[in-house]
Amino acid sequence: MNQLFQSVSTLKNVAQKRTDAYKKLSINTVYDLLYHIPRQYRDFSNPVPVSELVPNTISSIRITIRQKLPPVFPRHGLSIFKAIAEDNTSSITIIIYNNHYAFDSLQIGKSYFMFGKIGNDMFGREILSPHIIPAECKNLLKPIYPLTTGLTSNMIETNMKQALEILEREPFEWMPKNILNEHHLLPLTQAIPQLHFPKDNYEVQSARRRLAFDELLQLQLGMLMLRNNLKKDLAQALSSDISLKPFFDVLPFKMTDGQFNAVKEICNDLCKSKPMNRLLQGDVGSGKTAVAAVCAYFAIKNNVQCALMAPTEILARQHYQTFKSFLEPFGIFVGLLVGSQKTKEKRDIRNKLETGEIQMLIGTHAVFQKDVVFSNLALVITDEQHRFGVEQRSMFAEKGGCPHKLVMSATPIPRTLALLIYGDLDISVLKELPNGRKPIETYAVTGKLRQRAYGFIKKELLKGRQAYIVCPAIDESEQGLQAVSAYSKQIQEGAFSEFNVGLLHGKLSAKEKDTVMTSFQNGEYDILVSTTVIEVGIDVPNATVMLIEDAERFGLSQLHQLRGRVGRGKHQSYCILVTEHVTDSCRQRLQIMSKTRDGFVLAEEDLKMRGPGDFFGERQHGLPLLKVADMTQDMELIQEVQDTAKKLLKDDPTLMNPENRGLRLEVLRLFAQNNENGMN
Ligand code: ADP
Ligand code: MG
Repeated sequence: MNQLFQSVSTLKNVAQKRTDAYKKLSINTVYDLLYHIPRQYRDFSNPVPVSELVPNTISSIRITIRQKLPPVFPRHGLSIFKAIAEDNTSSITIIIYNNHYAFDSLQIGKSYFMFGKIGNDMFGREILSPHIIPAECKNLLKPIYPLTTGLTSNMIETNMKQALEILEREPFEWMPKNILNEHHLLPLTQAIPQLHFPKDNYEVQSARRRLAFDELLQLQLGMLMLRNNLKKDLAQALSSDISLKPFFDVLPFKMTDGQFNAVKEICNDLCKSKPMNRLLQGDVGSGKTAVAAVCAYFAIKNNVQCALMAPTEILARQHYQTFKSFLEPFGIFVGLLVGSQKTKEKRDIRNKLETGEIQMLIGTHAVFQKDVVFSNLALVITDEQHRFGVEQRSMFAEKGGCPHKLVMSATPIPRTLALLIYGDLDISVLKELPNGRKPIETYAVTGKLRQRAYGFIKKELLKGRQAYIVCPAIDESEQGLQAVSAYSKQIQEGAFSEFNVGLLHGKLSAKEKDTVMTSFQNGEYDILVSTTVIEVGIDVPNATVMLIEDAERFGLSQLHQLRGRVGRGKHQSYCILVTEHVTDSCRQRLQIMSKTRDGFVLAEEDLKMRGPGDFFGERQHGLPLLKVADMTQDMELIQEVQDTAKKLLKDDPTLMNPENRGLRLEVLRLFAQNNENGMN
């Protein structure tokens, strides 16, 4: 019987309590335990001579025990154990709190590696609650595991040793041999033990590389298979006979080449029975909405229905206005469906959808509700994709058979990442901004210059322009909101007393937000103080200044998104980044903002400086979590993996060949754990 897949409770010393603790870490079987990845390693391998130790650092030393002092018990529940030790440079006191077991196991005359915080008292150096290993130990990198109550690193280590013995008896490997060879990957029977008990850093690196490769390959294969699978369902093939000329004739501007190309690619897809699954990526202000509107026109002239979903009600209403102005002149009926509408209003819209009277529906999540039935839905457009996970995308697939899907995103995701995250999508990119846009002048200033910045804003307001001020109540907590409210009150009563100041934040009801936004759009407010709720898609061409407080708190991509709220009209626009922090790295970051207006470049910078959190955060829920792979470190690996995945699936699209079956099972397991996207 295979012990690998039996409960961890079959291991020595693992009773109910520890089994439960493991369970909290999602470790149920011995196999799961083997895949409990160390977060980091404690490095005992470079001991510092005691005479050179610097107080308040965490250091590793190699010492010999000379004397053990009697324990002291200063108060109930506290026992302090001390030992005197030395290396050939100096002596040091070892201080252990409450752990008599650790203290008892120290032997006089024996040498140890210790790792811990260095202190200094009047008698000399000390090391506090150190981690200890005997000097003869071969593995000088000790894994640091994610823990939970009832579970210590030592317990895990002991259990892991036994789990590794089981692995030795029951070795497994799912990667085809030729891939292992071609990419110089360790077999799992070597990578897993090395990961837990490495001799040196090289062993850690090669083990991690193997496991990261696995993870990325499974993710990539899963995404590609998902896509191939979707392509099997049939969508309505629209007719290419529809002319777009009437639409272009009334469009108030000339489309950019990029917009034209995207339209071509999308309409091309729409004419196939293979469902379109395309991402339209374009920087803020690149004109994605117009592209979407042409394509909607194309679809609706084919006598099918089209739906557009936006992440917020403000945006949905804005799109509603835009689409109405684009489509109504052609007799197309545009409807709006959002959460805040009255029941009766919603019912009326739903009826008109069911009869097909409404040809273009704009909405928020409310669109998803079960009782929304379309008569003939063929194209679904989602705006600002990064707010939605894979799950929502697949939900759309269930509405009205299998519609074509277009996803619009302004998050400039680096290409390597995009391929990985959106492995199941084709991508169109709008590279350039419409002609004649003046670059937004961006300045980074310290709080000392705030009054001057206000003065500058005033000048713009007096010219009839409007301004945004963003405060980073990132979490929209009570406290954060108080800060924005106080801020708006303060400037309304102070610096901007002769102007109208509006306030927008996430805790307002949809209706309230809408009222504020509409007032701003109509020019009733001169300044809008806001949290990041305005980040997404708002279009007020008369606004020319964006002032961002505590700018250092935002990622570059997010700053770029915020900045994109201005510079949308014919007037020169400005972005002022205010920060109290004047550290070099902060200044450097904000400098990049002043120099660069290419969202892709900024995203790459973000990725380098902040890691992939922004891309792989909650926004991407529905995607399997990566435990080992690190997007900032493993770019080259991603490329390798992508090539491998494509090659594999080209020769064996369902991974049913005997040598690929193990891999297939792993992919299925990964995706089954994480979402309900069936991919059988
Ligand atoms: P985004 O890609 O950020 O969604 P929008 O679609 O909101 O951008 O477009 C931004 C602004 O640019 C809108 O006011 C839109 O009417 C305008 N616009 C779009 N395409 C062009 C174009 N080719 N020439 C001039 N203006 C355009
Ligand atoms: Mg937009």
